[in-house]
Amino acid sequence: MTVGADYPRSLDEVISDVKYKRETIAALNQFKSSNPWRGSVPMRMEKFRQLHDALCQIYNVNVSLDFDPSIVLNESSGRSNFCPANSTITLHGRFSVLTFLHEWGHVLKGRSEHEACKWSVNLFRKIFPVNFERLVANARGHFLAA
Ligand SMILES: [Zn+2]
Repeated sequence: MTVGADYPRSLDEVISDVKYKRETIAALNQFKSSNPWRGSVPMRMEKFRQLHDALCQIYNVNVSLDFDPSIVLNESSGRSNFCPANSTITLHGRFSVLTFLHEWGHVLKGRSEHEACKWSVNLFRKIFPVNFERLVANARGHFLAA
């Protein structure tokens, strides 16, 4: 969500040693081993769905996951959002793992962009250190706003 944009201005504001549930780390590692950036569109949707269902169970919440029907793989994921009113995450554009985790940050931490970024960026960094370094090198922190 871009409302009330209290986005962190730099990565340094966000990087910290956040504690995650053991189950969350296990679910993310399983997702990682499914190769989330590989496969056909339906296959990749299914990988996200499995992780999503696992997170719903772990945090005992009932959140729906929708995909933009006109999903375009090379398009920005910036319009993705979590809508608390109907408890639905909608993913737009490319299947961005970081964006997906960011929306889960909103599920768990509410509207604060700072808290959503902190939860998602550190989790992504923990599970996907190589991808994280690549993002930092390429985007210089602009990926924080999602
Ligand atoms: Zn957000």
